[in-house]
Amino acid sequence: MTMPSWVSSEESKPAPMPLLLVQSFVNTWDGDRNSDLLLDPASARDWLTAAGLWDADRAPDPAELHRARAVREGIRAMLTANSGGPAPAPADLETLQAVARTERPAVQVDPDGHVTLGADPADGPDASLLTLLLVVRDAQRDGTWQRLKACGNPDCRWAFYDRSHSQVGAWCDMATCGNRIKNRRLRQRPR
Ligand SMILES: [Zn+2]
Repeated sequence: MTMPSWVSSEESKPAPMPLLLVQSFVNTWDGDRNSDLLLDPASARDWLTAAGLWDADRAPDPAELHRARAVREGIRAMLTANSGGPAPAPADLETLQAVARTERPAVQVDPDGHVTLGADPADGPDASLLTLLLVVRDAQRDGTWQRLKACGNPDCRWAFYDRSHSQVGAWCDMATCGNRIKNRRLRQRPR
């Protein structure tokens, strides 16, 4: 399967579409490489446009980027809970809740009679953040959501899709994060 251009080349455990969009959004921050595609307006515009989350003929302004990053970290907190970590703190969800309060979804009936619920593009850039929330909502209903997790390595926290039967995967990659953390714990274990 060829991945869309907006999916990181590092993505070894991709979620099914459209949840892949949420996963890739979370992974615009790469702790391993200390890079953040949503920090610089030009790179943010490039990524968000490719992902279909931005169609304005300008780059996002600082406030919009700040909001997008806050939504991203709110989702990451939810993915941490999915991997057995603590539940999100109230502050983690504040921006997600603000987006849910202010943006209105639009119901559309296409010519085939297919009914879709989406963000209203006329609502402007923040509507795309609502698009992500709608994808989360669908995934929570169809059962794929709890497989999308944040890596248990606190320096990594990469979003990965756990396809294991038991759904107990805790690392984005066993060879790197899994062993790194296990070795660290072994070293810390009192003798
Ligand atoms: Zn990791």
